Amino acid sequence: PPEGARSGLGRPGAAASASVQLHPCQEAMVRCHGSQCGFCTPGFVMSLFGMYQNTNGGQGVTREQAQVDLSGNLCRCTGYRPILDAAQQMGSLPLPAGCAVDEAATVAALKALKPGTTADGVYLKPRSLRALLQARANRPGAQLVAGCTDVGLWITKQHRRFDRIIDVTGTQELRRIEGYPHHIAIGAAVSLSEAFESLVAERPQLKTFGQRFAGLPVRNSGTLGGNVANGSPIGDSMPLLIALGASVVLMRWKKTKAGGQMAHRELRLEDLYTGYRSNVMRPDEVLAWIKVPRPTPGEFTRVYKISKRFDDDISAVCLALNLHIDHGVVCGASIGTGGVAATPARARQTEAALVGQPWNEDTVMNAMDTLRQEFQPISDMRASAAYRQTVLGNLLRRFWLESQGHQAINLESLKTLEALS
Ligand SMILES: Cc1cc2nc3c(=O)[nH]c(=O)nc-3n(C[C@H](O)[C@H](O)[C@H](O)COP(=O)(O)OP(=O)(O)OC[C@H]3O[C@@H](n4cnc5c(N)ncnc54)[C@H](O)[C@@H]3O)c2cc1C
Repeated sequence: PPEGARSGLGRPGAAASASVQLHPCQEAMVRCHGSQCGFCTPGFVMSLFGMYQNTNGGQGVTREQAQVDLSGNLCRCTGYRPILDAAQQMGSLPLPAGCAVDEAATVAALKALKPGTTADGVYLKPRSLRALLQARANRPGAQLVAGCTDVGLWITKQHRRFDRIIDVTGTQELRRIEGYPHHIAIGAAVSLSEAFESLVAERPQLKTFGQRFAGLPVRNSGTLGGNVANGSPIGDSMPLLIALGASVVLMRWKKTKAGGQMAHRELRLEDLYTGYRSNVMRPDEVLAWIKVPRPTPGEFTRVYKISKRFDDDISAVCLALNLHIDHGVVCGASIGTGGVAATPARARQTEAALVGQPWNEDTVMNAMDTLRQEFQPISDMRASAAYRQTVLGNLLRRFWLESQGHQAINLESLKTLEALS
């Protein structure tokens, strides 16, 4: 806000002076005392502004919605209650003249922006899969980028420079989600928000997990393909995708006498990784699709993310389980883990300890031991090795209890109170 805006700050119940022209989301923050040291305030205001635009001027914003949409913003002094109040109050405040946003014009202006050039002038954003694969074949050393929520940090934190960049987010085919009788195919450049929406549509129990992946802005710009290709051992989507039996389709441009053609190979997701942040992808290959089997009768699926903070934090341990139980016997088991090995990994020994066994407490206790012994996690700032091993087994026990209808008291089941009027 312009000079003078601070006059409204800190006065209980006082609106900022009329000349200041605060936007309703700023005004609500002032009225609700949503700012203290101010460090996080611009970020919160921008997220509130996003909500304001997406909810027809802040209409009908629930506490739950506000909490989800603001989960990518962290405050360490004022506290979240007044900020959530602001989210719910902004819709009742008038929009001063000049504060309205012409969204269509803004989007058009953004689309008209010409990409800047890199050091040697190579920044490519192919529009078709064919053009993408050809660009990749011609420049195998170029840095592929999608939403840049990982790559961006290599630049800002590690000061890396890339002379040649190929951006996959303009490739129309890779932005699609396609449904087939037995699986859905998620294009690698589909945003995490849309990808999780499609997974939750088939398995509603995954909703909370999807909402705990980063925060809304990162989920809107980051892609599922970027998460999978990046292959971080603490990445969240891979344990889940492994448990669901997902496969990946890698594509490249194969030169032929006639010029060339698109070629592909498909492998199980867990077979993509060869070691810490390394994979089997050839320099001329691109991750094109992630194929996820649809649910089948008798499957029981859960995914657990353990992190120091509930929202917007990286997993210390992630465990995803997908069991098929028929007449009380485990007839299929698929288990994905994160945070316990150098790569996202499948818990094959634990699966073997479960399949063919009666689904009862003895089987579970035995499988818990196997699961704890199957991995040798490291200690780091997120958790000690011992903690990771212990919690891994405990999560299997939780899965067992939930399969028996127990609903533990956990953070997922706690709801924030609506504002007191
Ligand atoms: C604040 C914040 C919070 C985060 N929270 C989480 C979290 O909770 N859980 C989690 O798992 N991650 C988290 N991340 C990491 C990141 O958001 C994800 O890994 C995201 O999915 C990366 O996708 P992207 O499109 O931004 O990839 P980019 O950063 O663009 O690329 C990542 C890597 O994938 C490669 N790549 C991208 N697309 C392709 C393709 N089609 N073919 C081949 N290679 C490709 C790139 O070359 C690069 O090596 C967080 C990041 C931030 C900044």
